[in-house]
Amino acid sequence: MSKKGYYGEFGGQFVTELLYPALLELEKEFAKIKRHEKFQKEFKRLLHEFAGRPTPLYFAKNTSEFIGCKVYFKREDLLNGGSHKINNALGQVLLAKYLGKKFIVTETAAGMHGVAATMAANVVGLKCKVFMGVKDIERQKVNAEKIQLLGGEVVPVTRGSGVLKDAVSEALVAWIRDLPNTHYLIGSAVGPCPFPEIVSYFQKVIGEETKDQILKVEYKLPQVIIACGSGGSNALGIFQAFLKDQEVELLFVEGEESAALKYGSKGIFQGTKTYVLQDEFGMDRKTTSRAAGLNYPARGPQLSNLVKLGQVKVSTANNDEVLEVFKLMGKMEGLLPALETCHAIAELFKRRGKYKKDDIVILNFSGRGDKDIETVINLQER
Ligand SMILES: *Cc1c(COP(=O)(O)O)cnc(C)c1O
Repeated sequence: MSKKGYYGEFGGQFVTELLYPALLELEKEFAKIKRHEKFQKEFKRLLHEFAGRPTPLYFAKNTSEFIGCKVYFKREDLLNGGSHKINNALGQVLLAKYLGKKFIVTETAAGMHGVAATMAANVVGLKCKVFMGVKDIERQKVNAEKIQLLGGEVVPVTRGSGVLKDAVSEALVAWIRDLPNTHYLIGSAVGPCPFPEIVSYFQKVIGEETKDQILKVEYKLPQVIIACGSGGSNALGIFQAFLKDQEVELLFVEGEESAALKYGSKGIFQGTKTYVLQDEFGMDRKTTSRAAGLNYPARGPQLSNLVKLGQVKVSTANNDEVLEVFKLMGKMEGLLPALETCHAIAELFKRRGKYKKDDIVILNFSGRGDKDIETVINLQER
């Protein structure tokens, strides 16, 4: 990092003055707590006993035969809560507890982060309020209900288009209203400094495990690692451990209908300088990814920087390809991936026949698709 909170030219802290003291406190305390042995021990214990880490690196035999090389899935879908979101949620609630906070506010889209945040808040005895766009509540009903069953409060957000970015804005407002008692548990590597740093730190366990696991079974590194994303928390989670391994291609897949890296430009969005889909006036454009978790008009600043530097390559998958993949995976592997995860799988399928038999591809299987079953059934009936 050159300047504080920057990754190359991306990142920073573009927020109202009211937030500076809270962000500064967070940054200072995070730097401290990282070094506490007691914190690390408790974080590791919860990742293991509560979340279910380490997750398996699964040799997907049927997919391997189909693609023509060795395909492994890093099974984040097996975690408590159904996705990688619990890694970051557990880390941040411990941080909030340490800061003496009483309440957690957060945003959610597909509901995976809302579920994880509420679960994690319960573990350490904090109350959790989850802001969720009305459109997302409608298409991810099961998760909205799950949050409430867990004792979390779901606050419907009607402003804007009633989707993820609107929920982020509302959660930020709620945080500002009660800074002394509240921690904003952001769900991805987005937002102002130090949030991207905190989230990617708590997610890096994915790649550390993956590296150990692949070396143990194959004695070599993969040709390519594929991950889907919007802010980039699961992608950074698995990529970070491989950034210095130049022979490993790192491939990020965004939604074609929300492709900020492909179609966007540099701008300031929700507190950070990054790639964002915007119109000529700098207003963010409407996005229409069916996977609620990818339907965000900006990427995180770290990801933007890695892409600009050429260390991470980018591709997209569209709504139709994603639906196709969802239906195929169930039959082929007995797995129902989240629609978000299907973006990565769609890219994998496009690479059929492009690798040698002994080449290794690792796909970060970011979450499970139980939440998407109703959406998929409704689409089939039309
Ligand atoms: C939230 C989510 C994503 C996208 O978020 P990132 O922070 O970009 O990883 C991808 N997959 C699943 C299953 C999710 O829940």
